[in-house]
Amino acid sequence: EDNPILVRQKLQESNARSYPRRIPLALKRARGIHVEDVEGRVFIDCLAGAGTLALGHNHPVVIAAIRQVLNDELPLHTLDLSTPVKDRFVQDLFAVLPPAFASQAKIQFTGPTGTDAVEAALKLVRTATGRSTVLAFQGGYHGMSQGALSLMGNLKAKIPLGALLDHGVQFMPFPYDYRCPFGQGGEAGVEINLRYLENLLGDPESGVQPPAGVILEVVQGEGGVIPASDTWLRGVREITSRAGIPLIVDEIQTGFGRTGKLFAFEHAGIMPDVVVLSKAIGGSLPLSVMVYRDWLDTWQPGAHAGTFRGNQMAMAAGSAVMRYIEEHNLLEHAEAMGRRLRERLLALQAQFPQLGDVRGRGLMLGVEVVNPQGQRDALGHPPADGERASRIQRECLKRGLILELGGRHGCVVRFLPPLIITVEQVDQVSRIFAKAVQ
Ligand code: PMP
Repeated sequence: EDNPILVRQKLQESNARSYPRRIPLALKRARGIHVEDVEGRVFIDCLAGAGTLALGHNHPVVIAAIRQVLNDELPLHTLDLSTPVKDRFVQDLFAVLPPAFASQAKIQFTGPTGTDAVEAALKLVRTATGRSTVLAFQGGYHGMSQGALSLMGNLKAKIPLGALLDHGVQFMPFPYDYRCPFGQGGEAGVEINLRYLENLLGDPESGVQPPAGVILEVVQGEGGVIPASDTWLRGVREITSRAGIPLIVDEIQTGFGRTGKLFAFEHAGIMPDVVVLSKAIGGSLPLSVMVYRDWLDTWQPGAHAGTFRGNQMAMAAGSAVMRYIEEHNLLEHAEAMGRRLRERLLALQAQFPQLGDVRGRGLMLGVEVVNPQGQRDALGHPPADGERASRIQRECLKRGLILELGGRHGCVVRFLPPLIITVEQVDQVSRIFAKAVQ
């Protein structure tokens, strides 16, 4: 931590800086699942751009796609004008969306960040329905602009007072099985959650105006790797459809194979009204889009603008990622590697009562760290222990493994490795994690 780059960074960068506080590294090179710091130490990167790097760092097909754009002198800045690269990107994306969705979908390029796509989705559903409020879920994370912040449940440290929309946002519990807010867990907890939602949306006497939309993550990422069950997702879809309320699925972190399907909503076989995408879609470069069913396409020409929506290198890189995933059966691979890592983590959990819960989908896994001596909750689970999680994270880093924390009190260790991780690398990750826990 006394490297001059890190010293200057601490001095000159905002106190709000996030990752460097817990991962004090100055990186100089990266390839695959590895990054190397300026002192020549090599780390396994299980943060991977917070889930952005589906193919890992600097994958040859991504680099080749970017080089091609430069070699061919393609226009680097195009606003949202048409180009062959953009056309190919849209065709590639529509080819991998579920056909029933793609056949009635429109795409809107929204900008460089996931937050941009979320903002656009809020605006779209409010325009299309003429209603103003939004229903979001506790523990949800949708971005850092005022509108997206207003949708954030529980991660209060990140929310300044009075985000712009917050009076128009209604929150509901997420089906967080291990900490079921209804004290039930399992299918019983899911059932109560759905009845709660049904009552909220379908009971005119409740005094709740129908919202313009419902927004959710299929697996909450920053909120602590909390997967929603397929039953719950199907229930939410059915209830929102019946009430005529657009369902926005935030696939910014879960999209592009992270959960073992290309899009996480496919596990439940539901059809969202709006899907917001970013992170992996630009193959490690900044890009975000919103794809939505055409009945929502009611806004006026020019209703949504933005200068940086035409990043040709990101589109070319994104196309390369989509093709690679398809051509190399990367979904099956991610599923298999996720299963292997989960088995290793479950075996560790059996040894260490400090590992309260192992959960997730595909290669989006989390371990909730607890204090086994603490007072148990209604479900019999010990309290979260963010301090211990933080120590585990530090011990992993010392041994060459980068992991990030999430969830309430930062008590969840998150595993988001590149999807190209190998069997040997999965075993190496679990060995380092085991040593760190020990
Ligand atoms: N939604 C989800 C589910 C996310 O995980 C994130 C980023 N972690 C965002 C939205 C915001 O994306 P960005 O940071 O690119 O604005």
